[in-house]
Amino acid sequence: MAEDRSYKFETRVIHEAFRPEDFHGATQPPIFQSASHAHESAENLSATFSGKTQDHIYMRLTNPTNRVLEEKLAALEGGKGAVVTASGMAAIATACLALLRAGDEFVTGNSLFMSTYLLFANVFKKYGITPRFCDPLDLAAIEGAINEKTRFLYVETIGNPKMDVPDLRQLADMAHAHGLPLVVDNTLATPYLCRPIEHGADVVVHSTTKYLSGHGCATGGAVIDAGTFDWSSERFEDFAPFVERKGPLAYLDRVWRELHINFGTNQAPLHSYLTVLGLDTLAVRMERHLENASKVAEFLNGHPKVRWVNYPGLDHHPSNECARRQFGGKGFGALLTFGLKDQDTCFRFIKNLKLIYHLANLGDCKTLIIHPYSSQYVSFPEETRQYLSITPDLLRLSVGIEAIDDIVYDLERALEAT
Ligand SMILES: *Cc1c(COP(=O)(O)O)cnc(C)c1O
Repeated sequence: MAEDRSYKFETRVIHEAFRPEDFHGATQPPIFQSASHAHESAENLSATFSGKTQDHIYMRLTNPTNRVLEEKLAALEGGKGAVVTASGMAAIATACLALLRAGDEFVTGNSLFMSTYLLFANVFKKYGITPRFCDPLDLAAIEGAINEKTRFLYVETIGNPKMDVPDLRQLADMAHAHGLPLVVDNTLATPYLCRPIEHGADVVVHSTTKYLSGHGCATGGAVIDAGTFDWSSERFEDFAPFVERKGPLAYLDRVWRELHINFGTNQAPLHSYLTVLGLDTLAVRMERHLENASKVAEFLNGHPKVRWVNYPGLDHHPSNECARRQFGGKGFGALLTFGLKDQDTCFRFIKNLKLIYHLANLGDCKTLIIHPYSSQYVSFPEETRQYLSITPDLLRLSVGIEAIDDIVYDLERALEAT
């Protein structure tokens, strides 16, 4: 890419951080299917182990295919570095654990992806870590939950599946006023719609399984470090060795050195390859995803058998104004929830769909539906399902990029037959 021009996102998502000349002129990164890399001299291997060179050692540590994806995601999110992981959950677990020790606390939005909620509420608790759950739109509650043991704030750009959109700039300012970093799961928005670092976030995590890879054929995650947080305060004195080693990238070094390597959360290079391939079409896919989702939301909102629709793009939605501002008018995401009469009606409706796939995933170019209450949340206690707003009448729809008329036709016919 020419250095005298600032390319638009649509161009950068394709060309950023990839140089054919580094790979014999190849136009996609090769899949480096090698567990280890041979070194000419003991001096060179020693220099690589001590971080003085950027060479590769062993697949659990780094891999050339993975590095292309890492550099692309860091550039697209406006961060200074990234680590890609085996799944979104691996990214979230390592991103949080790099900040946490036994006895620590963190403040988190309560509208979270199901496994993130379980990780925070059940797994972390076992290790003496306390998550303080708050409504991510309630700044006073969040501020009230911060104390001297708090290590970070955590939210999703668009809550999955609550569809609430917190104000990232206000949260970042509040976090920073208390000397804390803000960690944002940007899976549902993607850097096409929102770049949380531009709104003050310090760490961005992703499930690349969803829109970034885009075809439901690879799992993966990423931790992206803005490289701007000041880790030198007393609260983060345990970061001193990492600051000494990597300066502004102390946090990412800790994610990688302490968690990623020792937990073995590396991404398989095939999955990085598929994700890089998917990124080539992210901008055009997102444009269609967002346009289709708005139209589907309007259609469902006007249908007599649909009791309610939860989509930030609808004027009456409590996050409409914030989403409009934060997402620069580009759209409101491509996930939505809506209500039919009851669980039985939802089950019959799913059976009547002919085009839309019924499965547990989102962000695929195909339109997908699920009844979360009876599937992902089936073993949750009733009061937890209520707390997370997972009701028996709720369906979650991930709007794909098929022809809008065909998506609406499938929904309309199924509603009529139900
Ligand atoms: C799917 C998802 C995750 C988890 O990602 P996996 O790749 O399935 O591990 C995390 N956060 C959000 C918002 C998700 O939708």
